[in-house]
Amino acid sequence: MATFGTLSDRLTETFRNLRTKGKLTPADVDGTVREIRRALLDADVALPVVKDFTASVRERALGDEVNKALNPAQQVVQIVNEELVGILGGQQRRLQFAKNPPTVIMLAGLQGSGKTTFAGKLAKQLEKEGHTPLLVAADLQRPNAVNQLQVVAQQAGATIFAPEPGNGVGDPVKVAKAGVEHARRQQHDVVIIDTAGRLGVDAELMKQASNIRKATDPDEVLFVIDAMIGQDAVNTAKAFQEGVDFTGVVLSKLDGDARGGAALSVASVTGRPIIYASTGEGLDDLEPFHPDRMASRILD
Ligand code: GDP
Repeated sequence: MATFGTLSDRLTETFRNLRTKGKLTPADVDGTVREIRRALLDADVALPVVKDFTASVRERALGDEVNKALNPAQQVVQIVNEELVGILGGQQRRLQFAKNPPTVIMLAGLQGSGKTTFAGKLAKQLEKEGHTPLLVAADLQRPNAVNQLQVVAQQAGATIFAPEPGNGVGDPVKVAKAGVEHARRQQHDVVIIDTAGRLGVDAELMKQASNIRKATDPDEVLFVIDAMIGQDAVNTAKAFQEGVDFTGVVLSKLDGDARGGAALSVASVTGRPIIYASTGEGLDDLEPFHPDRMASRILD
């Protein structure tokens, strides 16, 4: 994944220097931790996350598990790996389905974060798995948003529920609610609700998203965040957590070559798991997120 190319190279270099040493002195550990800290900050990982991360690595690296290890440098790499898996959320978390269908999945995020694209990707993947998803167009802010979802639905071969007379034209909360009722009547077992995103976090948008959440009682609220968003990731994620209390995260544009700090900050700052990684503009570019695989890729 290109996103972590630079970070990955920097860490590899740090560990290469470490490996030339036999037993590690506290100064070796401090030097290594300082380099890790710089590499993470340069990758736009949020400062509080970097601080916690490096403090844990330092404490463990100075402890007995490294002191008594046959290969201390290898042990430090192992610790960094484990701590990375930890900040990425630990265990893999899969999408949760409702006991009584339809499973309602609401999407939230800034405009341009990749929500609509993700809606199509998810619909396509669910169809492959034998589900019958319904896409609901509740983004009524941008004139073109409904059309865009229509195009994506068509590409995914999924059914769409869009506002028209009787479906609550102009009122996203009514459209979302009617969409869930329509799914129940038409026996769709999953409903994916696309909601409006503005360029910045804004109170009116949050209220609308929060009202959609209340009206549709979703099983999952997925916060879609552009992995290239950089240092804004933390504030954006916190604002959405407060506004819609999302249950999981979708990292989009992980194929980009920017620094990718969002990917490494969001799960640990919000305590919510990353469920999917979106890795391209095509509808097949979607992967379940595995914290351990991601950590291995970074440390490869
Ligand atoms: P929305 O405003 O949140 O619904 O965002 P869109 O789904 O319209 O996506 C905004 C732009 O990002 C579009 O040009 C998409 O093609 C592009 N995009 C979405 N997901 C990805 C991804 O994973 N990788 C890349 N490279 N581009 C993406």
